[in-house]
Amino acid sequence: MRIAVIGGGISGMLSWYLLQQEHQVTLFEANDYLGGHTATVEVEVAGQSYAIDTGFIVFNDWTYPVFNKFIGELGVEKLDTEMSFSVKNLKQNLEYNGNTFASLFAQKRNILRPSFWRMLADIVRFNKLGKQLVAADHPDLDLKLGEFLQKYKFGKGMRDNYLLPMGAAIWSAGLTEMPSFPVRFFLRFFNNHGLLNLADRPQWAVIKGGSKRYVDALLNKVGTHNLRLSQQISSVVRNEQGVIIHFANGTTEQFDKVVFACHSDQALALLGNNATTDEQTILGAIAYQQNEVVLHTDTRLLPQRRAAWASWNYNLDATERSRATLTYNMNILQRLQAPVTFCVTLNNSTAIATDKILGSYRYAHPVYNMMTMAAQLKRNLINGQNHSYFCGAYWYNGFHEDGARSAVDVAAMFGIQY
Ligand SMILES: Cc1cc2nc3c(=O)[nH]c(=O)nc-3n(C[C@H](O)[C@H](O)[C@H](O)COP(=O)(O)OP(=O)(O)OC[C@H]3O[C@@H](n4cnc5c(N)ncnc54)[C@H](O)[C@@H]3O)c2cc1C
Repeated sequence: MRIAVIGGGISGMLSWYLLQQEHQVTLFEANDYLGGHTATVEVEVAGQSYAIDTGFIVFNDWTYPVFNKFIGELGVEKLDTEMSFSVKNLKQNLEYNGNTFASLFAQKRNILRPSFWRMLADIVRFNKLGKQLVAADHPDLDLKLGEFLQKYKFGKGMRDNYLLPMGAAIWSAGLTEMPSFPVRFFLRFFNNHGLLNLADRPQWAVIKGGSKRYVDALLNKVGTHNLRLSQQISSVVRNEQGVIIHFANGTTEQFDKVVFACHSDQALALLGNNATTDEQTILGAIAYQQNEVVLHTDTRLLPQRRAAWASWNYNLDATERSRATLTYNMNILQRLQAPVTFCVTLNNSTAIATDKILGSYRYAHPVYNMMTMAAQLKRNLINGQNHSYFCGAYWYNGFHEDGARSAVDVAAMFGIQY
């Protein structure tokens, strides 16, 4: 069969890799590089070159089985990393890094602050309760996060200085959006990732030398003859024979099947008026939100106290509330030895000194609410219909493994197991 894959992120790359075992598959990517959110940038500082990840950075040994298998086959090396989380809230003169006992009290006055101890006690209670409710598949899992926190009387400190920023950081979501998160989705993710445990957590890792290394390894393995970069596809039309891809330059190409490995809203836009009612309802219910991402070396975006610097640093002082405002410390995450601290900041560009900016990017992330969850459950109504298949991280939790998993699902529909 001749198959077109639209989109060269992890979902598209893995679909391409798996389907070409038995079919003639062409991968179309709008960007001039392969990888989508796997976007490593080469920068030079003091005559030395560094490969910094600006999109996909980390994965772990518990919840990324497909991705680990894939990079294992490609022979790519990974590097263990630290996953720590800090919060800076200057309005309340508060900062902490939850990594160790010492970093929790990097700001000494936290020891004497009753509200800080209340927050810690609430975190312990939340973790215990969360595990119990997940184990019992309790009906309260159907609540929204905001309702849940209110029902179980969790304090404002734990909510505003820990749980909402942590969720916002994980899902690149806004603080304003977090109270609408479905509790089932939130707690299941926290439980699966060991976030409800004090110890017993997964080992997190990065790709040694930058995430792009696995994309390079894939190209070394499969070649570039069926890869088409910088392809502006304007629409996709289906008929009884198969699929016609229309390009922005007016040309068309015919395929037997199409795999949409772009985001739900992008797939729907490509189908336009030709989308079926189910496609409109299901894809239309899973929205994406843009994130403005800046690579820079301005350490003022990190906590004031160096001991509170974590790999993920949430800044509650930013005026932006509807999108996540955090800074990844890339020297910690990628274990870089450099004369500067490389930072990747989301949605807080005006706070960064312009002379310290190395690059700016935009990456969209799925929005998670009750509508998204309901739509995810209806994937089978559109997948495999009208010669069309849909994959992307949006079918699950929105992470790299989810993109990979959704590609494996599509391959299975073609009888290819992974
Ligand atoms: C800032 C940020 C950091 C993240 N960090 C992590 C992390 O550390 N770990 C993790 O597991 N997840 C992380 N994620 C989640 C990450 O986005 C997903 O893991 C995953 O990479 C998404 O893969 P995808 O294939 O679904 O989409 P994408 O990687 O976005 O790929 C979709 C591709 O489709 C292409 N495309 C769209 N329309 C067309 C068209 N018409 N024609 C041709 N091509 C088209 C796009 O150009 C793009 O390349 C992060 C997300 C964000 C926003």
